[in-house]
Amino acid sequence: MAPYTIRIIGDPVLTQRAAEVTEVDGRLVQLVEDMFETMYDAPGLGLAAPQVGVQKRLFVYDHDERPGVLINPEIRESRGEWVFQEGCLSIPGLYFEIVRPKEVLLVGYDLDGNEVQIEADELEARLFQHELDHLDGVLMVDHLDDDQRREARRALRELRLRAAEAAPSGAGGLRLP
Ligand SMILES: [Zn+2]
Repeated sequence: MAPYTIRIIGDPVLTQRAAEVTEVDGRLVQLVEDMFETMYDAPGLGLAAPQVGVQKRLFVYDHDERPGVLINPEIRESRGEWVFQEGCLSIPGLYFEIVRPKEVLLVGYDLDGNEVQIEADELEARLFQHELDHLDGVLMVDHLDDDQRREARRALRELRLRAAEAAPSGAGGLRLP
């Protein structure tokens, strides 16, 4: 069983800006390990700390079997446009074509406190932009056009209904099993 339950849209933790990480200690290393396990269990390509209810600026990812963690990441440069059908572990079952920059230069820190710079393209760049959004309390539904937004509202209503049926009464109704 995964160490964490992934938070689902509607949970306020997903719409808040996460705080900078100021210290890498044993607890943070443990958090990263638990986030990897939760991500692989889901399964997903990336997972940001707010998605497991932790308001810290870091995410884990695994692109092309190259796993990594980025602490206090920032996008320094971005270029081009790329359309990709995005999904999100916090919005189960919904996928939308979203346009974002095709290439990004990402700067952040690893668990040893070393600065890392990654030039990413296409899927990897998309992954980084999506996870970085989570650290700012932004979800992929915030990037939709009007038609997609209507469709999302309908799908989210169904998601809430299913969650309400699955959850015992009074349990908030939004956390899926
Ligand atoms: Zn997501």
